[in-house]
Amino acid sequence: MAPTEYNSPHISRRGLMLVLSSPSGAGKTTIAHGLLARDSVITNSISVTTRPARPGETDGIDYFFIDQERFDRMAETGDLLEHARVFGNCYGTPRGAVENALAAGRDVLFAIDWQGAQQLAQNARDDLVSVFVLPPSASELERRLRDRGQDSAEVIANRMAKASNEISHWAEYDYVVVNQDVEESVTAVESILRAERLRRRRQAGLPQFVQSIQATL
Ligand code: 5GP
Repeated sequence: MAPTEYNSPHISRRGLMLVLSSPSGAGKTTIAHGLLARDSVITNSISVTTRPARPGETDGIDYFFIDQERFDRMAETGDLLEHARVFGNCYGTPRGAVENALAAGRDVLFAIDWQGAQQLAQNARDDLVSVFVLPPSASELERRLRDRGQDSAEVIANRMAKASNEISHWAEYDYVVVNQDVEESVTAVESILRAERLRRRRQAGLPQFVQSIQATL
């Protein structure tokens, strides 16, 4: 039995969509990486973006870095499940990879902003689980943005100014995790994922499984 899929050898279920949002710097990307390292059933949705790659980022792993023309074409032709403008750049979720993963019974992780979470929720309410990640404090958020050492002072100031707007959407999410300690936060999100997988309505194969037990009682 795969350790992350408690019921799966017995009961088939629908894949779920796990959304992580937070103000920039609160740690959702680190939490996402930690979860992906621990859980082999969930797969990461790799977004497209028009922003330039930061040092250390790889095309096709962190994002697909594309130009505005290509982004606009994808948005127009319905190739994006959701898309939004964040900090002056465009971000979007390619539809095909997500639909293929869900169809194969895999769960999909999205580290996206509140606008994307709202758009996904409109179309996938039952299959969507959303988690908002808060920083322990404003000063800690600023410290993390500076320590990242990837952005200019101007970009950091811009992100701090936008944090309040992102945080104002916390109540639209199913779960809220205060990211005091990354390992603890990964464990919290992992627990959410495990519990959500066991929801009765997600386990499509449950009636047959129960019947098979009852038939032999
Ligand atoms: P960053 O440029 O720091 O990687 O991301 C900036 C913001 O864009 C973050 O809040 C991140 O969650 C959000 N973001 C990343 N990918 C997507 C996406 O595909 N859709 C939406 N709506 N937001 C995204």
